[in-house]
Amino acid sequence: MTDTKPFWRKPLQDMSEQEWESLCDGCGKCCLNKLIDDDTEEVYFTNVACKLLNHKSCQCKKYPQRFKYVPDCHKVSIENLDELYWFPPSCAYRRLHEGRDLPSWHPLITGNQSAMHAAGMSIRNKVLNEDDVGTESDILIGCIAHWPAADLD
Ligand code: SF4
Ligand code: SF4
Repeated sequence: MTDTKPFWRKPLQDMSEQEWESLCDGCGKCCLNKLIDDDTEEVYFTNVACKLLNHKSCQCKKYPQRFKYVPDCHKVSIENLDELYWFPPSCAYRRLHEGRDLPSWHPLITGNQSAMHAAGMSIRNKVLNEDDVGTESDILIGCIAHWPAADLD
């Protein structure tokens, strides 16, 4: 019998590099400045984006060389799944790692990113550049943003 399950339902550890990379919806939300409560470890997202994030395409402007410009940039990989708690709840990697499925607006399901943008799940045209705003905690506190619910399926 042929297995007709989509590839994203298999364990993350079993995915090829190409499958792993294709899970990223391109929302850009992992490139936002965040605040973490020292006591509760709760993560708060802001609308202040990394200086290298393109606010329209939601892509990094210098992805191959990004660590030269942003040394603390993170790449989600199978080796650091335990860091996914500070990725947005809508993140495909986080969803699958937590046993959830991909949402109905995910590009792998719809074939493109239009539904994701229409659902307000990406940062497109909604963020500010950290170089213009600043990244000090007292500034970021005033920029905490409540992004659409992760489970808007
Ligand atoms: S939050 Fe997750 S799905 Fe969205 S761009 Fe970042 S890695 Fe990709
Ligand atoms: S360097 Fe690029 S990938 Fe890293 S946080 Fe900034 S925009 Fe995102």
